[in-house]
Amino acid sequence: MCGIVGIVDAGGVSIQLYYAMYALQHRGQESAGISTYDGTTLYKIKGQGLVADVFSQSLLSDLKGSAGIGHVRYPTTGANLVENIQPLNFRFKDHSISIAHNGNLVNTRELRAGFEQEGEIFTTTTDTEVIARILMDEIGKSGGVEDAVNLCMHKVRGSYSVVMMIDGIIYAFRDPLGIKPFCLGKTPGGFIVASESVAIDALNGTFLRDVRPGELIRIDNAGIRCTQIAISACRAHCIFEYIYFARADSIIDGKLVYEVRSKIGGKLFDEDPVAADAVSPVPDSGTAYAIGYAQKSGIPFIESLMKNRYMGRTFIMPSQQQREKAVRIKLNPISAHLKDRSVVLIDDSIVRGTTSKRIIDLMREAGAREVHMRIGSPQIKAPCYLGVDFPTRKELIASDKIEEEVRKNITATTLHHVSLDALIEAIGCGKGNLCTGCLTGCYPLPIEGEFGTIPHIDFVAGTYQVGLDSFEKGS
Ligand code: AMP
Repeated sequence: MCGIVGIVDAGGVSIQLYYAMYALQHRGQESAGISTYDGTTLYKIKGQGLVADVFSQSLLSDLKGSAGIGHVRYPTTGANLVENIQPLNFRFKDHSISIAHNGNLVNTRELRAGFEQEGEIFTTTTDTEVIARILMDEIGKSGGVEDAVNLCMHKVRGSYSVVMMIDGIIYAFRDPLGIKPFCLGKTPGGFIVASESVAIDALNGTFLRDVRPGELIRIDNAGIRCTQIAISACRAHCIFEYIYFARADSIIDGKLVYEVRSKIGGKLFDEDPVAADAVSPVPDSGTAYAIGYAQKSGIPFIESLMKNRYMGRTFIMPSQQQREKAVRIKLNPISAHLKDRSVVLIDDSIVRGTTSKRIIDLMREAGAREVHMRIGSPQIKAPCYLGVDFPTRKELIASDKIEEEVRKNITATTLHHVSLDALIEAIGCGKGNLCTGCLTGCYPLPIEGEFGTIPHIDFVAGTYQVGLDSFEKGS
């Protein structure tokens, strides 16, 4: 999780970074930061909270320069500490370096121990700093960013979409398996790289393409240069981005997320049809699924739960008790839409089971006769080590329960999760190109104590360069 963005624009970048991060706010609400560079000075502001809480107009006007990067954080590695807020900034051999990362490394501990043995001191507990150390070490020796990213791709294992700024030049690279999303766009005055295409839309820009897995893109005021550093035989796009994490209006690795979710909704009806009076989503995560279900089944779509839009995600609450209370404040059932009705209720996933159980209770209290729960993902069986904040196996309700046991637990009239095959078909990029670790317990790379495959990665070096105006869509 986390959202990253990098922008080059001769007309200034701070306001654009702010809007782009605002569009990526769903990827992390714990903290936000921006670094910019104006040719001589690195400006940096970061703080805990939402983008709108951290930045004011006057602070943004202090962030001068024609290049900058930003980050919204939802911690997976590294505690909720002020020093862990990204971008991380370094002064290194007369260079100003700023770096932000979305993803999670699985070999951080050994890499960090190696550096510490050589006497290096770390100032944060993030895996991003490990990536920064590898890069700076190599840039210090060879001077070349391409060599440094090449070495980094050899050394680190895990998911990483990284945006880095060195003296006003933006570098963006993505792990060879393309686990976390990352895309490239053209804004009216320059270029942007961002976790999701909605950040490009927010700037009235044009989505060009995804940053390719294993690719390094260099952007400055003259244009961009793309270098394919590594090629993997297959990809491992995070399946949970499509299920829950990405915004429905984003295009991720060539697929509009909304379309994927509504297709899954249709498949939920095909796989286990039910005669009901209405189809309702758990807002907002279930909406696109419920629309697809309603279209396929002909059962009317109606909202039966209203969301208080001023509340954060229930997951942010640190304790189980707080989370349970929060569900009631967050959602209010519309009794007139539920009384004596049989309702198909659709959500994207069941993780701990807290939300579903509470919502079904609320719906029954409001008069629903039957609640047929339909879920846009298969059962979540295993933790995520590659960037999604999932609890341990023990806390995952489905880790040791079959669907019927979960149904009883959440007290649904019936329960059906979409099958893995139908989910993969709806996404449309093939099973071999998706990370399904949380659903199958089989990961696309070796992880200590888990079952993982070893990816085949070739290191190549192919570069092409394009000017600011000549970059064509899809090129
Ligand atoms: P629960 O089953 O109570 O743990 O909550 C599951 C709901 O939380 C799902 O329906 C999603 O909408 C949402 N959700 C799923 N995974 C995550 C996550 N990693 N972080 C935040 N929210 C999530």
